[in-house]
Amino acid sequence: MDFKKRLDTLISKIEKARLAYSRHHVVRLVAVSKNATCEQIQALYACGQRAFGENRVQDYYTKAHSLQALPLEWHMLGPLQSNKINKLLELKPALLHSLHSLSLAQAINERAKEPLKALLQVNITKEAQKSGLNPELALQTYHDIMQTCPQIHLQGIMVIGPHSEDTRQIEQVFQRARELFDQLPNAKTLSMGMSADFEIAIAYGANLVRVGSALFAC
Ligand SMILES: *Cc1c(COP(=O)(O)O)cnc(C)c1O
Repeated sequence: MDFKKRLDTLISKIEKARLAYSRHHVVRLVAVSKNATCEQIQALYACGQRAFGENRVQDYYTKAHSLQALPLEWHMLGPLQSNKINKLLELKPALLHSLHSLSLAQAINERAKEPLKALLQVNITKEAQKSGLNPELALQTYHDIMQTCPQIHLQGIMVIGPHSEDTRQIEQVFQRARELFDQLPNAKTLSMGMSADFEIAIAYGANLVRVGSALFAC
């Protein structure tokens, strides 16, 4: 696999979408390595990529340990079970994207010895198979976490776009995510956009995109 070429192509597309949105907009790229081997992560690192995202605590643990010599920045993206909280905290992720309830936030808050940066995951379309908070509850929950969980430093929200070919439908979801984001106090990270829809997400103000298959798929 030609990682340099893939990464360069991706960065050019992100850059084009970013400039179309605003010259003053900054977009971070998290390379989603859930289906990648340590060798592939290392190859992408050699091309300049630093931030990687995993979906499962156990995989994150294994990869972070075998690659600990590298200055990587790890993001936790997948649904978190409460019996994995301690293990996750031990790993000190740069950002947890998948905080999906007040009770999970409180469980983390009780166990965290130092602050954890996190995003509230919102399920804009309320798809049953998707994790994340109902958008009607998101604003209130965001405030509740801020007020009751001093160890959780909320930075914004994470949204997964609809699995759809219909651009208009994707745009509507990202538009609603953006409107919610704009109502949050001091929020700075709007994590949305994956391989199939990151350009649309950036057009709606995403400033962190999570891209896996465009970088790693065979
Ligand atoms: C797998 C995954 C991604 C990356 O998806 P691709 O379509 O492979 O780019 C992004 N975010 C989350 C939460 C994921 O689970």
